[in-house]
Amino acid sequence: MVQVNGNYLKLKAGYLFPEIARRVRAFSDANPSAALIRLGIGDVTEPLPQACRAAMKIAIDEMGTRDGFRGYGPEQGYQWLREKIASNDFQARGCQISAEEIFVSDGSKCDSSNILDILGPENRIAVTDPVYPVYVDSNVMAGRTGEADELGRYGGLSYLPITAANGFTAEIPTEKVDLIYLCFPNNPTGAVASKAQLKAWVDYARANEALILFDAAYEAFIQDPELPHSIYEIEGARECAIEFRSFSKNAGFTGTRCAFTVVPRGLMGKAINGEKVEIWGLWNRRQCTKFNGVSYIVQRAAEAVYSSEGAAEVKALVAFYMENAAIIRNALSAAGLQVYGGEQAPYVWIKTPEGLDSWGFFDNLLSGANVVGTPGSGFGAAGEGYFRLSAFNSRANVEEAMARLKKLLISP
Ligand code: PLP
Repeated sequence: MVQVNGNYLKLKAGYLFPEIARRVRAFSDANPSAALIRLGIGDVTEPLPQACRAAMKIAIDEMGTRDGFRGYGPEQGYQWLREKIASNDFQARGCQISAEEIFVSDGSKCDSSNILDILGPENRIAVTDPVYPVYVDSNVMAGRTGEADELGRYGGLSYLPITAANGFTAEIPTEKVDLIYLCFPNNPTGAVASKAQLKAWVDYARANEALILFDAAYEAFIQDPELPHSIYEIEGARECAIEFRSFSKNAGFTGTRCAFTVVPRGLMGKAINGEKVEIWGLWNRRQCTKFNGVSYIVQRAAEAVYSSEGAAEVKALVAFYMENAAIIRNALSAAGLQVYGGEQAPYVWIKTPEGLDSWGFFDNLLSGANVVGTPGSGFGAAGEGYFRLSAFNSRANVEEAMARLKKLLISP
């Protein structure tokens, strides 16, 4: 009989979203008339921008002609898209990132997992706690961890707690680590890092020859012009950081699928014999071998994000979700809850009321208001006592959910 990858057997069985789904199903079966509002999963709800749809339609018609048909495209993405990304997302912000350093992909979830292909098994890895679960689980699958303890923490990983006590930005580790996952604006806490905070990370990484994996999937939601959108806004980051970006949340591409990873030229790792190796070449090789590119049609849609119409539509989408976040923040604060995030990110991170843990609050909101959120403990042990609500929903649903929550929390 074929042997399976035993690392998968180390994964915690009760993974967050299946457990949420199980509890919601049980509640719905018992209460079939309850009108549930889901503010749990971070999927967008608003339609694709018109500029993207128009670009896709043109691309589809091109594909129907002998001259316009395209088969396999470059594994790294079409040059015209890579150039738009480099100039609009990076050079316009003063970051010296070139088109050659942009690798277009079908998602930053895949990229942030696949990157482990090119990194060695001996690296000491640091993740924040709470954390976007993909960083941890992909390391478990790749055999880079030990078993999980009763809190769900895997042996071999360094967990950096992010809590109210440290302003939801992880403290620089006191021990030496080689690989650091950072996500700002943060999922799940909605926290954001200042330039000074990112500089401290870049300084640490350079001093310790560590690599930062910087997930900026939510950068478009930053409102404060002083805050950095890219780690490359920090001097020296080209020497120590890879950045993940996505069109999923800003332009509504969660179902369309397009993202990109930035790997600077000259960013070095080392082989087991100590010899220096350029990481760009390894990622290029990995993508050429294991990936065949994003469809032409979707890349044309992504390109349209940078047109003046597309940019205006994306701005409006972001503003719409951020208005939802403000409605959530205001309603919960008015109900006496301590709320964090939601100002530079589409997630609101809530301290659960006295006496209720994360799952207790989940059950309370589900049964008392028919609102589904995400227990903070599902993102890591330090998320216990917190709860995440997502601003990705229609205005009507957000307003109705907040009216129900206020009623439940103010006059239970
Ligand atoms: N990174 C973070 C922090 C996320 O929260 C998500 C999705 O929720 C992703 C990446 C996934 O993005 P993509 O749709 O590009 O795979």
